[in-house]
Amino acid sequence: MKACVRLFTRLFLATMVVAPAARAQKPAPEMPRAPREQKLIFVGDVMLSRSVGAKMQAEDDWTYPFEKIAPTLRSANLTFGNLECPVSDTGRNRHHLYSFRADPKAIAGLKFAGFDVMSVANNHSFDWGRPALVDTLVRLRAAGIRPVGAGANDLEAHYPVLVRLNGVKLAFLAYVNVPPKEATAGTDQPGVAWLDRDRTSADIRFARALADVVIVSVHWGVEYMRKPQRLQLELAHQMIDAGADLIVGSHPHVIQPLEEYHGRWIAYSLGNFIFDQHDPPTHHGLMLEVTLAGKRIRQVQSVPITIDGSLQAVVTNGEKPAEARPSENAERAAAQ
Ligand SMILES: [Zn+2]
Repeated sequence: MKACVRLFTRLFLATMVVAPAARAQKPAPEMPRAPREQKLIFVGDVMLSRSVGAKMQAEDDWTYPFEKIAPTLRSANLTFGNLECPVSDTGRNRHHLYSFRADPKAIAGLKFAGFDVMSVANNHSFDWGRPALVDTLVRLRAAGIRPVGAGANDLEAHYPVLVRLNGVKLAFLAYVNVPPKEATAGTDQPGVAWLDRDRTSADIRFARALADVVIVSVHWGVEYMRKPQRLQLELAHQMIDAGADLIVGSHPHVIQPLEEYHGRWIAYSLGNFIFDQHDPPTHHGLMLEVTLAGKRIRQVQSVPITIDGSLQAVVTNGEKPAEARPSENAERAAAQ
């Protein structure tokens, strides 16, 4: 997959620098034909600090949280998660209510787990300020993991991450609307992509023109609420109307419903994937298995996962995957 990412980056840059006249003289290169089916996996919040960090240190194993589930994650053509902490040895603790920062050695676990793209647009990326956020982006890229939803400036934070997966062009965008808003990227300032309706719609339309499949990760909602807020529904529908194929939500730490809307999909919250919270509902999350048929999403299934007593993610015993279906009463199910 990583080779594909590099290839696509090169191809994409090549199309940017080759003059139209020069391209007109040469026949377009044959693009590889997309295989019949490919699988993408999406997981929720991955937090590698606090007790999870202490556990990895005690075990002297930086892949420990992913030990049992890595074969499943690695079986996909592409794996995506929300990285809910900076991974760095720099920055200054901003003493948020909970301030997370994982040891740089934890990058080895993300790599071992098979993550290809990770959202860093969340409320913890800024826990140790801009230097730690920027350092995290550098470390992820060095490990071959593409960060999305943050960057050295506003343009980079909002620019889609483009991945060519065996001939299928995927575009990833990621946003947050959970404070601190000061984490937002500026014209000359590193930071995250803030979820602004108009800007997000414009970003999605831009990504739509570049890719076959547009995926948007959103860090939103209210912690521990099992129903999405009406605002989440409105934003999700607006993003689909702008051209997104799949919306993947995180932040509430518990699972919220899946919805099929106009033939596209919304997972309002996948819950936790690796975390150390106490309440039992926070020990359960969803792994979204997305099947691509050619250049389109054919099926979206949710597979329940559990964070066990060792702080390791496992596929929940005895539970079958559930297929996302049109949810007529999503409107009524929404919290006000
Ligand atoms: Zn969060």
